[in-house]
Amino acid sequence: MTWYFASVNELIKGAKHYFYDVPDNVQFHFEKFKKFRDARIATLNGIYDRNWEREGIELIHGTAKFMGGNEIEIDLRDGSGKATVSAKHILIATGGYPIVPHIEGAQHGITSDGFFDIEVLPKKIAVVGAGYIAVELAGVLNAIGVEVHLFIRGDTFLRTFDPMIQETLTKTYEDAGVVIHKQFGSFKKVERLDQYSASVQEGAHEKRTEGASPDKQLRITDENGHTFEVNELLWAIGRTPEVESLNLGVTGVKQSAKGHIVVDEFQNTNIEGIYALGDVTGRAELTPVAIAAGRTLGNRLFGPPEFKASQLSYESIPTVVFSHPEVGTVGLTEPEAVERYGPENIKVYKTKFAAMYFDPFPAEERAKHPTQYKIVCAGPEEKVVGLHILGESSGEMLQGFGVAMKMGATKADFDRCVAIHPTSAEELVTMR
Ligand SMILES: Cc1cc2nc3c(=O)[nH]c(=O)nc-3n(C[C@H](O)[C@H](O)[C@H](O)COP(=O)(O)OP(=O)(O)OC[C@H]3O[C@@H](n4cnc5c(N)ncnc54)[C@H](O)[C@@H]3O)c2cc1C
Repeated sequence: MTWYFASVNELIKGAKHYFYDVPDNVQFHFEKFKKFRDARIATLNGIYDRNWEREGIELIHGTAKFMGGNEIEIDLRDGSGKATVSAKHILIATGGYPIVPHIEGAQHGITSDGFFDIEVLPKKIAVVGAGYIAVELAGVLNAIGVEVHLFIRGDTFLRTFDPMIQETLTKTYEDAGVVIHKQFGSFKKVERLDQYSASVQEGAHEKRTEGASPDKQLRITDENGHTFEVNELLWAIGRTPEVESLNLGVTGVKQSAKGHIVVDEFQNTNIEGIYALGDVTGRAELTPVAIAAGRTLGNRLFGPPEFKASQLSYESIPTVVFSHPEVGTVGLTEPEAVERYGPENIKVYKTKFAAMYFDPFPAEERAKHPTQYKIVCAGPEEKVVGLHILGESSGEMLQGFGVAMKMGATKADFDRCVAIHPTSAEELVTMR
């Protein structure tokens, strides 16, 4: 919804090229939008709670920890004390939380949680990180007029994505006005220059930050002594599994070096009757992945015999980055495909063009809005093993191609599908 909020501003800016008399300074009311968004989430939470009740699921609000292999103690959120529950099957789905670096004053910044608390937009923000959360939030803020400084370690962001996506999107962000500080080392100190009362946001652990504030003035110093003054600082440097509160020690459940809960392909931990899924397991950290893993596990444990071997396939999961423009990806990047199949067995199809929407834009501006697609094929049958798309509507476009790839589509299958004209997506079935 926040991405749509920002995209409306982009449309308004583009409207003049379609001969609409739109004033340059159209006002928007972020605080009203924020209130609406919060209310919508509260409504959704209520709907879920009622659905659970209807299903006969008892929801206990609080922080749970293991007391033994099959017993949980819950510290109740309403302060009324503790509850205990024991069960034959226990599923850990506690997710993760954003990392805040261990430097002086780091708590003066915010994380993605704090981003969603912003009511009054900061004038200037430093966003630290190169993953999709940093890129999405930087893109939104830039599109609604915040001066965004993005600090990244390399020359491009989204480093796990195909090089085409990394290079083109990084350049597109620069063209859109995001100031990207490349090859950036690290910050060593954050100072708060405004008057404030030092209260750190409440949370399950002490890594929380002070939260967003409209009057914030920060001075950030990097490892070389350079300083930057900003009104907000957003840490988007990664997430870590939420396991500390769980008292896992009493269970013997195995964790990876990074703390993720280790599971097999059936979401089983090493302890019988304890399962884990979602972000706490550290694989494909996406909402529909957690949901699909949950459905599959539920079917396996409690469903009819035909589901007894159900497991979620983590191969070819479509992913979209809600950047500006959107990016979509399924399967292997070109370097991954080369490594897996050998360069002689890979054929890559690529195209770059300006989407028709940008036709009325002046050439110089049109050049700042590329659409770029890549299909990575393997073997003599040219099975499509990777699809990477960047441009308007990529998010909506990707799902159907994801189905085709899950079915093992080849390039010839793509070509057999008649194009839908005039769309950008047709380029994916007409590439030579
Ligand atoms: C900024 C941002 C943007 C994202 N955008 C997308 C997107 O566009 N699309 C997408 O698919 N995914 C997106 N994700 C990822 C997605 O949110 C996660 O992959 C998904 O929420 C994981 O689900 P989960 O059930 O594993 O964990 P969560 O959704 O994190 O749920 C875990 C729950 O467990 C609770 N909990 C933790 N410890 C305890 C305890 N001891 N006792 C009781 N409760 C506990 C937590 O409070 C939380 O409510 C985004 C994530 C972030 C941070």
